[in-house]
Amino acid sequence: MSDAASVPTVALNDGTTIPQLGFGTFQIPPEDTAEVVGRAFEIGYRHIDTAQMYRNEEGVGRAVAASGIPRDELYITSKLNNSSHAPDDVRRTFEQSLERLGLDHLDLFLIHWPLPNSEVDYVDTWRAVTDLVADGRLRSAGVSNFEPAHLDRIVEATGAAPVVNQIEAHPYFRNDVAREASLRHGTAVQAWGPLGQGALFDDPTLAEVAERNGRTVAQVALRWALQRGDIVFPKSSNPDRMRENLDTLDFELSDDDVATIDGLDRGEDGRGGPHPDQLG
Ligand code: NAD
Repeated sequence: MSDAASVPTVALNDGTTIPQLGFGTFQIPPEDTAEVVGRAFEIGYRHIDTAQMYRNEEGVGRAVAASGIPRDELYITSKLNNSSHAPDDVRRTFEQSLERLGLDHLDLFLIHWPLPNSEVDYVDTWRAVTDLVADGRLRSAGVSNFEPAHLDRIVEATGAAPVVNQIEAHPYFRNDVAREASLRHGTAVQAWGPLGQGALFDDPTLAEVAERNGRTVAQVALRWALQRGDIVFPKSSNPDRMRENLDTLDFELSDDDVATIDGLDRGEDGRGGPHPDQLG
């Protein structure tokens, strides 16, 4: 069984490190979050991914406070809401996130979506997020759902590459274009929806790879992402599944299995979420 100590870390471009496997909180109802995240801590997760948009930061904060785990053993990420891209709103809502989380600093804060059609230029939003690092209340600044052109623009304008780009990526949607653009900038990839948000579970090819390895579909999908070097934080409220998802660190998919899973990519048809250029 894997535990917190066995989760490898990924080195980020600002000299910090992040646990490669964590726990996602999208769609965990606010009223259940403290209990579910508390359970995740008991099971061994130490890296939690939340967002202003999920309205459950307060529950994450309650679980952190109740856990008794030293702050420096935890890695907490939140994300800027789409309605708060104006630079003043970045600072104000970041402080509100800290308050809701009951923390004096965040490990990672992301622009949730680039919103290229919004009145506020995401370059200005990015500058405001990077300014938070100078204050000491934010360790690392990153982005989410940034396409290659968005990444190129912020790096050219500010000289600062995000530490991570959190993008949709799973066997049905490898998202190699955004993935490779991120890596070219020295930006680590966080794969959201690593289980295809539930879409992968009936896949016969994944079931066959899982059976050959004596594992589950969830475990081989997560293992495939980990072997690509991506950072993942699957979500489940079920303790057995939470354990199962953490228990992906002590086996290795063969090159053949990796190639088989690579072959499931459906390109744009495999995308489950909105295209980042079309949101906002
Ligand atoms: P996911 O791929 O983690 O899938 C979650 C679904 O799979 C849930 O229905 C869950 O019940 C089920 N599941 C989980 N483990 C299972 C198992 N072992 N066996 C069977 N079913 C299992 O999808 P997600 O939650 O959307 O993505 C993970 C995290 O990524 C989110 O919680 C959130 O933190 C983040 N995220 C970010 C963005 C973004 O725009 N940046 C978008 C979506 C999600």
